[in-house]
Amino acid sequence: MEKKLSVALVTFGCQMNKSRSEHLLHLFLREGFSRAQKEEEADILVFNTCAVREHAVARALGVISYLYHAARTKRGKPPVVVLCGCMSELLREKLLERIPYVNVLVGTHDFNVIPRFVQETIASGERRISFSPPSPLFLEEGYEREGRISAYLPIAFGCDNFCSYCVVPYTTGPQRSKPKELVLKELTNLLEEGFREVTLLGQNVNTYGKDFGTPYAFEELLESIEKRFGREKIWIRFITSHPRDMRRGIVEIIRESHILCPYFHLPLQAGSNRILQLMNRGYTKEQYLDIVSYIRESIPEAVIGTDIIVGFPTETDADFADTLEVVEKAQFEIAYTYAYSPRPRTKAAELEDDVPQEVKKERLEALTKVLKEAYSKRLLVHEGRKVEVLVVEEKKGLLFGRTRENLGVTIPTKGKSYLGEFLTVCLTRDSGGKLIGNVEEW
Ligand code: SAH
Ligand code: SF4
Repeated sequence: MEKKLSVALVTFGCQMNKSRSEHLLHLFLREGFSRAQKEEEADILVFNTCAVREHAVARALGVISYLYHAARTKRGKPPVVVLCGCMSELLREKLLERIPYVNVLVGTHDFNVIPRFVQETIASGERRISFSPPSPLFLEEGYEREGRISAYLPIAFGCDNFCSYCVVPYTTGPQRSKPKELVLKELTNLLEEGFREVTLLGQNVNTYGKDFGTPYAFEELLESIEKRFGREKIWIRFITSHPRDMRRGIVEIIRESHILCPYFHLPLQAGSNRILQLMNRGYTKEQYLDIVSYIRESIPEAVIGTDIIVGFPTETDADFADTLEVVEKAQFEIAYTYAYSPRPRTKAAELEDDVPQEVKKERLEALTKVLKEAYSKRLLVHEGRKVEVLVVEEKKGLLFGRTRENLGVTIPTKGKSYLGEFLTVCLTRDSGGKLIGNVEEW
């Protein structure tokens, strides 16, 4: 029997990219390829890239070169190299100057043709390139996931928001939503396969279904999920919610549900109204804090996560102080912070990147400090709670899990394996502020 060609996928960037790689692996396996044990041994190296910050591009270029040369040495001949995803979509053929050994170069809208292109490039020795326009529908189906505990499930692809700093609308195209029946079918399969938690993905899930002309389609989707799976033991979350589109009705549906979990990822980006306007975010800091208050009042144990950018063009110390003020008030449990990075094609790239690197760094440090202090205050709400934790990892005598609300918890263990199980624990915190879960009956 002929040996199957092996594929290794290397993924950069966001959860959506991770999920798209799982889909791509599914396509490869369906076409008779196998999964490589190690990247260095793979016949085919696929790089699913990110372009959200310049740093991501620089890192990808380094990793691609390293892995290509490692595989070439190990195998004694070069692997087939596939470049796809957002960096490809943005930089296109220009990438060939930097990575001349690419065999297949496609953007974000050509994943379906990649396995065929690989077969063709192997047969002909010729490079295959394609940059298709976005397809009008989002019907992606079939994912080869790692493990059987947590799954990503994309419900929409693309973004219409054009935040002025962001390259995503250019690299992924307009938002297209997956039909509700397909989402429900995929959820049924995940449940049957034994998955314990599912994260619905979209750049702005709250506008799910806008492209079908249905303004409250996200609420309808959540209600259908609750109706169909409400009695099952599975946790369902969703990211990301644009604060501008965070309707109260969504919070109310979550409050009444057992399976829809109260984790809200609400990227603040900045606290200054002037900067928010320059960012084209469509809300003020007051409106943002109103939503946060509404969530906190409706579901006191809800967890709120955020993304924040420091050093957007023209950001002054006073603007930055507004960001710190919102952080103090909102008391985020989870936060990702970034230094502004100008991106090609975006509106903000027309502005001078005038906040010096040094200042961006100082602001990031100051922000981290205030985030920690605010989180520490917020932990008083969670401490002492008796909650269920889903165990997702076991390492060195410790279990790592998440609560329904997406709080990370460390649990000292008794040696037995609890992977994929729900454990009831009492939450405390250690001296470093880390949440510890104690199982009473142990
Ligand atoms: N759709 C999601 C994810 C967007 S990308 C959302 O709206 O939140 C993830 C995060 O990267 C963004 O929330 C933003 O904080 C950050 N980001 C995007 N473009 C950036 C840029 N040019 N410079 C620095 N950070 C950026
Ligand atoms: Fe980028 Fe804004 Fe769309 Fe998020 S909502 S992907 S930040 S344009």
